[in-house]
Amino acid sequence: MSSAGKRTDPNLEPPARGRILLHSCCAPCSAAIIERLSKDGAEFSVFYFNPNIFPREEYELRKSENKKLAESFGVEFIDADWTHGEWLAECGALAGEPERGARCLECFKLRLLKTAEYAARNSYAAFSTTLSSSRWKNIEQVFEAGAFAEKAAGGPKFWARNWRRGGLSERRAQLLRERGFYNQQYCGCEFSAKASAKKRAEPPCAPSSEKP
Ligand code: SF4
Repeated sequence: MSSAGKRTDPNLEPPARGRILLHSCCAPCSAAIIERLSKDGAEFSVFYFNPNIFPREEYELRKSENKKLAESFGVEFIDADWTHGEWLAECGALAGEPERGARCLECFKLRLLKTAEYAARNSYAAFSTTLSSSRWKNIEQVFEAGAFAEKAAGGPKFWARNWRRGGLSERRAQLLRERGFYNQQYCGCEFSAKASAKKRAEPPCAPSSEKP
């Protein structure tokens, strides 16, 4: 990767000069971001820490897609642990929460805290996350979790970038078609899998009781 000094896109200015650690949730969410940062000559690594994903087979599948993607751009892929027990201990009590509710905020905090701690230990200047690229996520929660992680780790700055802007959402859709990524059916945890399966089982519209 080229140095941060050669970068050209003013919309891609991180809050600190130096290497960036990009937390990635999955290949579909990160494809356009990795491509854009690579083209801009950013010095960055992809950090895969998503112990929320269940079951293990689903986790391995998503990880392998993400690894292949990063490697296709020549970007370092850092494979962190699948600590699902730790994730459940933090987030399991909030099982009944809907998506974008309190469980998701805790889930983001756990993943971004580990990212920030790794970034601090390994001299990255800043960290960011592809979680803010998905319209299914509450971006305010993502930014709140990033700010929490920055403070708790006491090191690198959190780059609160809205990765839906600057044509990235459109490019994401194109790359989904071009690369044919594995089609994820739910956000990641067992609770989102259940909610998603229930939604799919519902008839498209409820029968009307009204007479014509
Ligand atoms: S729905 Fe997604 S973001 Fe929310 S807790 Fe589950 S895996 Fe995490």
